Amino acid sequence: MRVLVVEDEKKTASFVRKALQAEGFAVDVCHNGDDALAAARTTPFDGIVLDIMLPGRDGLSVLRQLRERKSMIPVLLLSARGEVNERVEGLNAGADDYLPKPFELAELVARVRALTRRSGENKSTVLRVADLTLDTVTHRAQRGGAEIELTAREYRLLEFLMRSPGRLCGRMMILEKVWDYDFDPGTNLVDVYIRRLREKIDTNFQPKLLHTVRGAGYLLKEQP
Ligand code: CA
Repeated sequence: MRVLVVEDEKKTASFVRKALQAEGFAVDVCHNGDDALAAARTTPFDGIVLDIMLPGRDGLSVLRQLRERKSMIPVLLLSARGEVNERVEGLNAGADDYLPKPFELAELVARVRALTRRSGENKSTVLRVADLTLDTVTHRAQRGGAEIELTAREYRLLEFLMRSPGRLCGRMMILEKVWDYDFDPGTNLVDVYIRRLREKIDTNFQPKLLHTVRGAGYLLKEQP
C-alpha cells in the first residue's frame, strides 16, 4: 500500500510518515498542493493524507482537482480548524474521511488503514483486524484460524465495528447502524451484544480487540 502525505509542516509530515512506515505503508511526502497533484498524476497511490492548510493551493483545491480528473483515490483530510463548515465542504468536495488536528498518530494510522482497505474492497471481501477476519460475502468469522459462530445480529455488529477499526462508536451510533433504531430504547441491548461478541472474539485470544471507552462507547482495534 502506497500513501501520499501532503503537509507543509515538516515536523508533522515526518511524524506521520514514520508512523505509517512503521505500519508497513510505503509513504511519499509533498509539502505543497501543486507537488501533490503532480505526484498523484504519476504514482498510483492507495490513499492520500491531505492537510487543508497549505501554502498556495490549499488541500480543498487539491481535492477538487483530483475529483475533476475523475481520480477516485481515497482522501483523508486533516485540518487545524475543526469547524463543521470546513468538514462539510471537504466531504462535499469528495473527501472520504476527515480528521481534526491535533490527532493521535494511532488514530491517523487506523483511519488510513480503513481508507486504503476501502479502496481495495472490490478486490477483497475479507475484513481484517489483527488475526480476526470477517468475510462479508459468506459471513464467516475466524480468529487465529478458529471458526467463530455468529448470529445474524452479532455479524452485523462485528461487520460495523470492523469496517472502521479504531473508530469510537457510541451506543446511539451502533443502535442506528446495527439495529436501524433512530431512538434510544433505553435498554442495555448494545452492551449485552458487545459482551456476547467479546466472549466470542476475545475471551480465548490475545491481544484483546474489542475495547470499552467508559461513558463513550466501543471500538475495535489492536492496541499498540
Ligand atoms: Ca499545514
